[in-house]
Amino acid sequence: MRVLVFNAGSSSLKLGVFDGEQQVFKASFDRFGPEGCDLKIGGETSRAPQPDLAGAIAAVPALLDRHGVEKIDAVGHRLAHGGTGFTAPVRIDDEVETRIEALTPLAPLHNPAMLQAVRLARQLWPDLPQVAVFDTSFHLTNPARATTYAVPKAWREAGLRRFGFHGTSHRYVAQRAAEALGQDAKDLRIVSIHLGNGASACAVQYGRSIDSSMGMTPLEGLVMGTRSGDVDPGAFGFLQRELGLDIPQIEAALYADSGLKALTGSADMRDVEDRAAAGDLEAQLAINIYAYRARKYLGAYAAAMGGLDAVVLTGGIGENSASMRRRICDGLGFLGLMLDDDLNRAPDLTDRAAPQIQAQGSRVAVIVTETAEQLMIAREVRQLLLRSAPVPRSIPVAVSGRHVHLSADAVEALFGPGYRLNPGAPLRQPGNWVAEERLSLEGPKGRLERVAILGPLRPRTQIEVSRTDSFALGLDAPVRDSGKLDGTPSVRLIGPAGQLDCNGLIVAARHIHTSPADAEAMGLTDGSLIRVRVTGAGGRDLVFDRVLIRVAPGTVTEMHIDTDEANAAGISGAGEGELAGKAVAEL
Ligand code: ADP
Repeated sequence: MRVLVFNAGSSSLKLGVFDGEQQVFKASFDRFGPEGCDLKIGGETSRAPQPDLAGAIAAVPALLDRHGVEKIDAVGHRLAHGGTGFTAPVRIDDEVETRIEALTPLAPLHNPAMLQAVRLARQLWPDLPQVAVFDTSFHLTNPARATTYAVPKAWREAGLRRFGFHGTSHRYVAQRAAEALGQDAKDLRIVSIHLGNGASACAVQYGRSIDSSMGMTPLEGLVMGTRSGDVDPGAFGFLQRELGLDIPQIEAALYADSGLKALTGSADMRDVEDRAAAGDLEAQLAINIYAYRARKYLGAYAAAMGGLDAVVLTGGIGENSASMRRRICDGLGFLGLMLDDDLNRAPDLTDRAAPQIQAQGSRVAVIVTETAEQLMIAREVRQLLLRSAPVPRSIPVAVSGRHVHLSADAVEALFGPGYRLNPGAPLRQPGNWVAEERLSLEGPKGRLERVAILGPLRPRTQIEVSRTDSFALGLDAPVRDSGKLDGTPSVRLIGPAGQLDCNGLIVAARHIHTSPADAEAMGLTDGSLIRVRVTGAGGRDLVFDRVLIRVAPGTVTEMHIDTDEANAAGISGAGEGELAGKAVAEL
């Protein structure tokens, strides 16, 4: 399938054509003006007569013809803001177009040009499927603690919240970094740092974005070419009182006249680095501020994820500036992160390479790679269009109450040396049982009594509670897949013969156990994420997103949700689930 990808801005249009993973054509129109624009094809730049975006898009069919790009099967569009409504790429029709337009207030500087590209492309290629891919979608997995501003409720109800951007880039480079490490992204805690004209950092914990430095708008966070990044919102009042500026003036300056441009007069990092090297003190300070802000976010995200396995740097600055990479990473030895100076100096990024530049013995891998947002958009378009409808299939839904899986050591600590648990009622999964014994859990706020113990024993103790339980304990249990226990909080387990402070407290991520045969019949693979519509006696049907598929021989097919989820879906005891498609934003 050949996909034409558009990335439209107010002063530029980038386009690419992809045949599968292969880019077969690449061009950009830049610096629109009454006299025309720069047209770059491959490495060559020439002047072209198109004065604006509309002119550039209208010129694309002839341009493709001229370069022998014949058949296009679909068109993909980058959209900056998808709000909370667009959780995944979507095929564009009139209704989608109207919904995108309604989001303009959230991204007044970015969405209008992109929407214009959508409209023009739909007129030019009315028979081709057109798909919108949103920068915000990847971050919709961020928990409320990361997306909620502590501001009046009426503001939040009006839609003020953090979204995060550059999602297509963060998703691509995190995936690329995991590939380069030969590991599954679902096993890694990655900080992705995109440093281009815009810049943002993203915490990708076990395959999901859990936080990113851009907020409601692409203004928050890192220092950028012309954008300020983080600023005390108190500045608005100060600037109004002291300089008589109004809000549109302040906002415009924070977008277009801040960042490197404000600090040095140039928004271009190459200029800033050259000036700094020639002794310009303002440029030196700007570089220090830029690197310091990025390093702060890196550290913050390592803390947010409870550890760090890899850092991936991308964007024009991340890819090309060895000194900026050094500055950001220097002093992070305490996190187990050390660069190798030789490897850092000139990593070879050709053919989408993702070289590692950490020193021998560094616990954290550092990877540099070119971002490939257009390739990622082409992939998304292909996946959306090729995705076959899932086989409808009913799955029993079981509600997991709070429970504990114990290690052999924990059993001895809680029940006494040599003690063996007594298997009680069998569970549906063959070989699993509820023990006759119970134990208590204690946290800084409270205690949960008579908590079930499930057998058989496991190599590592795991304590599964609901979100509500974790508040009752006064602990912050993360949502995790079973067995992913690094960095999880510790809770006190109390048994008849002793007590034990043990980490491994999680809210289990909703999942489906299934056998290889059932998985194949349903078209599912181990580790994939799907959506499931759940129905219970309470009549409150709910679609659960990001349900993890766990395939193992000898398993009975069954979906597990926790008590909070069951309450929300009106299920007491048992319910029924039906596959409802792939999950959004699957990494
Ligand atoms: P965009 O976000 O518009 O796609 P890019 O990712 O191309 O932008 O990044 C542009 C930034 O990268 C500019 O600040 C530019 O100076 C910087 N850059 C490109 N090459 C180098 C280099 N060799 N050294 C330092 N900075 C560089």
